[in-house]
Amino acid sequence: MVGGGWWMVDNYLEAWMRRTLWAAAIVVAASSSVGAQQASTMGLAKDAKIAAAFADVTPARLRTMDSVLVSFGTRHTMSDTLSATRGIGAARRWIHAQLSSYSKDCGGCLRVEYDTGSAVVGRSPERPVVRMVNVVAWLPGRDTNRVVVIGGHYDSCICSTNSMDFTADAPGADDDGSGTVAVMELARVMGKHFPRGFDASVALILYTGEEQGLLGSTQFAERLKREGKTVTAAFTDDIIGNTIADDGRVDSVSVRVFAVDSLAVGGGELARYVWATGALYQPQFEVIPVLRLDRLGRGGDHRPFVERGIPGLRFSERLENYKRQHLPTDTLNAVNFNYIAKVARLNLATVASLAAAPARPEQTAYARDRDSGGQSFTIRWSLVANAASYELLVRRTTAPTYTRIVPVGNVTQFLLDEQLDDVWVGVRAVGADGHRSLTTVVGAPGGARLPAQRR
Ligand SMILES: [Zn+2]
Repeated sequence: MVGGGWWMVDNYLEAWMRRTLWAAAIVVAASSSVGAQQASTMGLAKDAKIAAAFADVTPARLRTMDSVLVSFGTRHTMSDTLSATRGIGAARRWIHAQLSSYSKDCGGCLRVEYDTGSAVVGRSPERPVVRMVNVVAWLPGRDTNRVVVIGGHYDSCICSTNSMDFTADAPGADDDGSGTVAVMELARVMGKHFPRGFDASVALILYTGEEQGLLGSTQFAERLKREGKTVTAAFTDDIIGNTIADDGRVDSVSVRVFAVDSLAVGGGELARYVWATGALYQPQFEVIPVLRLDRLGRGGDHRPFVERGIPGLRFSERLENYKRQHLPTDTLNAVNFNYIAKVARLNLATVASLAAAPARPEQTAYARDRDSGGQSFTIRWSLVANAASYELLVRRTTAPTYTRIVPVGNVTQFLLDEQLDDVWVGVRAVGADGHRSLTTVVGAPGGARLPAQRR
């Protein structure tokens, strides 16, 4: 869907960003060992229980599951729903059965359900109304109103030849069999290691209708909004299994994360969180933040959430091969399951950390400090349930990540010796067990403000 000329521009920009911004951070960090820790891991603390769960993410299981998905022939959203062996109906019943068996193994810790609705497929000339069935495994937390979402889409297509062909084989082993099996494996491993859940609830979801315009994820994002849920973050795993480019280049040691750098919504904060979590738990596997919604001209299931003001992020393989996307050539032999396992472990660390942490402060405010001649600022933020303390994080407006972390204790106001005109300051909540929330940027344009304080 994107021409070859654009590919060059995209790659050039990405290479430029990588060289200048992200490499610069590493150079700065390398000048001091303490700084190096903070620049790359942002003061996050490793949780031994999360790290211990990594070993259970199994490449062989991922391969077996993806081969079952491919065996359904096509998983086109409009394909057969009655057959036991072919089409999207058979695929979702198998996914539901797998997730239910994981729940049985963890004493019923997961709540598995079909999330159903219907949508007009506007990309078809006939504009048919089609039933949309997502499959969700909920891992309820202490707070059932706060949710961390991670999904992949189980539908497939051969859109590059005919987007409405719902009978021919559309294997979709990478797009998005890879993301589907990663999320299913996460459900199993999280259920086994954390059967009582975290502070927030986790929704592990397999979407339909992605290839027809993000229809399944739009349905789920709308439902969460209707039910009044607070969504901490929404992730999607989409094409996370290719490691060889068409020109022969190979990359199995890095992954891209796409998020809009909106200060008010917090997409960039989410990308930094994933970047730091990766550096902490899996330092040999580089997280490459790309601060845009998605690849040029493409979309993913994090988008409906971002459009509703929720931090959203897409995990995607470093090297795509457009000769294998949305085509009968998207087969198992080009999918690297060791690579998917690395992405799934990064998913696990990120989702578990965010769900275990308190929520981030909803509102902030600042006031210039007169006693210091305007060189310091009083920062205030709204109280967070379950927070044991708070931290302020500081970065220059051009810096890719935070370079100073100030622990302030269990207070909601602090006089910070920084010139707020010149930097971005984030505030985050720290849980009793050391898990850090996402940061809320103080004074972000469009961000939520505390009401003015009377003196
Ligand atoms: Zn996809």
